[in-house]
Amino acid sequence: MKSIAPRALAAVAALALAALACTTVNDFFDFELPDPEGLATDAFGTFPPPNTGTPPAPPTSASSTDEVATEAPDGTPAATITGLAPAGDLPFTLDQADDAQAALRPEFAADAERFPAASRYVIDVAVTFNEDGSATLTGREAIRYTNQQDFALDELYLMLWPNERSQYLGSAELGQVTVGGQPVEPELGDNGLHARLPLAEPLAPGASIDLEAAFSADAQRGLEDGARYGLSNGALFAPTFYPLIPRIVEGEWQVEYPLGGGDTTNSDSAFYAWRITAPADLVIAASGVVVDQANAGDTQTQTLLTGPMRDLALVVGPFTVDSRTAGGVQVNAYLLADHADLSGDVLNMAGTQVETLQELVGPYPFAELDVVDAPGAFGGIEYPGLVFIGVIDHDGFYEEATVHEVGHQWFYSLIGDDQLLQPWLDEAAASYTELLYYERVVGPEVVPQVLDNSWGYLSYADDPTLPVGGDVAGYGDDYAPIVYGKGALFFDALRRELGDETFFAFLHNYYDRYVYGFATSEGFQQVAEETCACDLDPLFNLWVFEGGPVERQE
Ligand SMILES: [Zn+2]
Repeated sequence: MKSIAPRALAAVAALALAALACTTVNDFFDFELPDPEGLATDAFGTFPPPNTGTPPAPPTSASSTDEVATEAPDGTPAATITGLAPAGDLPFTLDQADDAQAALRPEFAADAERFPAASRYVIDVAVTFNEDGSATLTGREAIRYTNQQDFALDELYLMLWPNERSQYLGSAELGQVTVGGQPVEPELGDNGLHARLPLAEPLAPGASIDLEAAFSADAQRGLEDGARYGLSNGALFAPTFYPLIPRIVEGEWQVEYPLGGGDTTNSDSAFYAWRITAPADLVIAASGVVVDQANAGDTQTQTLLTGPMRDLALVVGPFTVDSRTAGGVQVNAYLLADHADLSGDVLNMAGTQVETLQELVGPYPFAELDVVDAPGAFGGIEYPGLVFIGVIDHDGFYEEATVHEVGHQWFYSLIGDDQLLQPWLDEAAASYTELLYYERVVGPEVVPQVLDNSWGYLSYADDPTLPVGGDVAGYGDDYAPIVYGKGALFFDALRRELGDETFFAFLHNYYDRYVYGFATSEGFQQVAEETCACDLDPLFNLWVFEGGPVERQE
């Protein structure tokens, strides 16, 4: 997704934009040269930094009246919270939670059987909108976790992402937690960002254990000023609202606070069976496919299943809904009233990108893809099966954002990568999918123009010799120009080195190797070298690993 552009850069970009030409291309698409901000539209919003004037409540302030959480910054245990969970049974059993066929396109239904050790989540969540303009999510979840490491685990972790305070306008609390049926006192750390759950018995490799947790979260207004979780325009945007099991990376739980302003979460593909209760007069957009819905009085309930997905996003708000089918996928556009007339354009852009990337990279196996109007969610933010577009307006600059975020369905959602440590794997790739889109809808003659723009973007870097393969925290203001701008140019350099036939064979091979899994920079190079039967060390060292001056090729 994003980082925040300095205002000065925004002004420079606006000047640069004014000098750029504009080309009308066909009946559906007005191609406008992407501006240096817009090319990586989730990298550079023209938004001020997140509003720090209205800090969200700390986790020690209860978000509903019938419970109290106590937690100290040093990670002392939270008090048991009662009264958080919706009444009644969870909507599924854990045994049913991988019944994912309905969430997959028929030809990919067998993917539901491929991951018997993937985590299973059953989540029941109720959303209420409060008189003060905030919203409350109250829920309960059950998780079946299988130890996929080659060593025994003596602890598990749950991430409470609404407690990340720079991009999440809200907070979250854990209620009662049981592990293997026994109550556990969670040990909160990092101001409630993570909760350690000690295990009474080590969990052996290959063994599974069931957890249950009650939780609540609140969300505050202000998303329009730049955030990924919160409220804006009467809508709740609540990605990763539930306690989420993090990844284990090189033997360590990845629970650290994300630095640098990039994407925040990493998690393994899992199966989600979940139920949402929300006000009946609003529209729900959520990862997965609705398999049941009902209305009762002022509330509505939707029950959903997902295929193997690495996270969930939930949106509830006053949206219009429009749909089309593209490449066998139902694409849904959820737009606010001011933008409802743009639904045809949004669906054409998203649908064309789905068709483009299915052809050039690999299949989109999920039955649906939701594109959600989220003013202020930076340029846009990607979640599995659902993307936020932060810049939909009548000026047309949301096209790059839309196709970039849809591109993340392949690079981040399907082909996972570490969004904190190797963000180029999804951001450079998603930026390059913008070129693939324009190449398809306009023609090959547009490619030099799009590359021009990436070179222009790179020119904003203080140090354009930096490699693209660094972690988010290390770049400072050079993050977006290097990872998005230079990153897209690396894909171009690789394509020139390999030739089109081998390059696109590589993209397919890369997809096949890592779909639903996690790629690495080294794995990316390895698949490329296997595809071309060539040595790519010099190219990768120059662009990805070590850096150095790069020059434009005509
Ligand atoms: Zn992105």
